[in-house]
Amino acid sequence: SKTVAEKAREEREFLPIHGYRDELLKLIAKNQVLVIVGETGSGKTTQIPQYLQEAGYTKRGKIGCTQPRRVAAMSVASRVAQEVGVKLGHEVGYSIRFEDCTSDKTVIKYMTDGMLLRELLTEPKLDSYSVIIIDEAHERTLSTDILFALVKDVAKVRPDLRLIISSATLEAKKFSEYFDSARIYLIPGRRYPVEKLYRRWPDADYLETVIRTVFQIHQTEPTGDVLVFLTGQEEIERAETNLKGRMMDLGTKSSEIIICPIYSNLPTELQAKVFEPAPKGSRKVVLATNIAETSLTIEGIRYVIDPGYCKINSYNPRTGMESLLVSPISKASAEQRAGRSGRTGPGKCFRLYDVKNLEPTTIPEIQRANLASVVLTLKSLGIHDVLNFDFMDPPPETALLKAFELLYALGALDGKGEITKVGERMVEFPVDPMLSKMIVGSEKYKCSKEIITIAAMLSVGNSVFYRPKNQQLLADNARMNFYVDTENVGDHIALLRVYNSWKETNYSTQWCYENFIQSKSMKRARDIRDQLLGLLNKIGIELTSNPNDFDAIKKAILAGFFPHSAKLQKNGSYRRVKEPQTVYVHPNSGLFGASPSKWLVYHELVLTTKEYMRHATEMKPEWLIEIAPHYYKLKDIEDSRPKKSQR
Ligand code: ADP
Ligand code: MG
Repeated sequence: SKTVAEKAREEREFLPIHGYRDELLKLIAKNQVLVIVGETGSGKTTQIPQYLQEAGYTKRGKIGCTQPRRVAAMSVASRVAQEVGVKLGHEVGYSIRFEDCTSDKTVIKYMTDGMLLRELLTEPKLDSYSVIIIDEAHERTLSTDILFALVKDVAKVRPDLRLIISSATLEAKKFSEYFDSARIYLIPGRRYPVEKLYRRWPDADYLETVIRTVFQIHQTEPTGDVLVFLTGQEEIERAETNLKGRMMDLGTKSSEIIICPIYSNLPTELQAKVFEPAPKGSRKVVLATNIAETSLTIEGIRYVIDPGYCKINSYNPRTGMESLLVSPISKASAEQRAGRSGRTGPGKCFRLYDVKNLEPTTIPEIQRANLASVVLTLKSLGIHDVLNFDFMDPPPETALLKAFELLYALGALDGKGEITKVGERMVEFPVDPMLSKMIVGSEKYKCSKEIITIAAMLSVGNSVFYRPKNQQLLADNARMNFYVDTENVGDHIALLRVYNSWKETNYSTQWCYENFIQSKSMKRARDIRDQLLGLLNKIGIELTSNPNDFDAIKKAILAGFFPHSAKLQKNGSYRRVKEPQTVYVHPNSGLFGASPSKWLVYHELVLTTKEYMRHATEMKPEWLIEIAPHYYKLKDIEDSRPKKSQR
């Protein structure tokens, strides 16, 4: 019998792109920049780098291929390593934030677009690369848009470098024009007809419609797997629980329907399951985020259920507020999603919405994103005139100015808009400017050790505490243990305590289990912490510890997050000090329901039913003046000023 790798290698010849290999290689040899368009699943991402390697390009340098999503970079690299027949991380590897799975041997490197952007900081001419592929270009992520301009410039000074812009949609003309009329190559795809069926749900909860549709398909339709587009991990987990519950009610055998979730934070070892064919007699139901729209191809899908939503981040430059909102998809996305059912035979797409109401395309992220991080990166790359940067679609000027304002307030840029020493140190950390400023700022308060732990814990997101449905009370009690002893200890310091307690048990998994802590998140935090530690070393910040001086730790947090300060109002809600707006303590915060602190600093705002502050810590208003005198004036904190002046 054949090994997995043997099978993977054989399958290469059946991909639509296979017949165009030589023509493609000829075009790449002749054209420095080539725009390639091809249907999802035609083999662009997995095959082109291999063709290039076979044609000798890796003798002159690496082949870099960017992906907008972490999971895509990992998954595709692992597939290609299999096809090439090497161990992942050797000749074929990937690099995503906080995780580098490459070695000296690596010649085919998949990476997130954000990572290539960071590589430009140390390798401005990308000298170690012979080819750069900007893949999934139609996604128009913030980093991809910035890369367009930067690689275009690099190409001018490096005639030997080859650039490939690869896209699943016909936006190619725009790419071609941007790259000085670059040649476009269309890979003829195979697509079977897709029947579109419309389902309406009477009430707000479309998950119920989704679940009914899954069972309807299972009971009435011929074999073929089902792909459901959902908006995120939480929704996917909810759908999974509901589906399993309904299977029990209906007496559906668990071998009949195999549920496969796939989303960004899914642990690596579970990701492969989505690609495994369902055993005979069973039907696979894939619950996926947008990642399955074009980034990943899953074989065997004949039915798509599309509620028509996705999460997109949007930034309001006026208030400086960023939020991840569930929004209707675009017509272009709806087409892509439907197309996923027609890859191997005629398919059916169940749409739970009216296409008429959709916008034609999604607005590029650059026009709805917080630009602080990008502006700092560009400044560090020596780009002085950011306002006149060669953007494919320019961002709103207000958003750029807002970014400048913040970077100036953080001390990363000077009055002339030039990067400062502080700014240069901040750039070293692959995190947002406020977080990097917090880290850099910790030097002054002699608590860098605590601060990198907090930064690492904040970077793993909100998946530290585990709250199983049937044990919520126990879980909440366990969590509150990290808040006791000191009044209003706050979420940041609680996170620090979680980490340090875990460390004291010698990183015990059992301890995590007993305390309702997700050990996977903790391990990730440890990896991130190790990296931050390395960077701290690199820029020469001494590792200092001040574990019981909460004031020092809070001041260091404020050094980065002073713009995120809020004051208690009479009705128990909070009001942001700058950009006045009512905000609330997040129900998952340890401060929720506690005796309220008058002043808080928070990590981020999340908008669900209300504007919630996630990760908040008590602070003193006079610290705002002490730390950011150019940003806060006495009048901002006035009514809290001590009655008898202390000065
Ligand atoms: P494109 O980039 O044109 O959308 P890909 O190169 O990603 O196409 O996919 C080509 C083929 O490789 C598809 O048939 C897909 O099923 C397969 N494939 C890609 N990644 C994996 C993986 N991680 N495991 C199994 N198969 C994969
Ligand atoms: Mg692809």
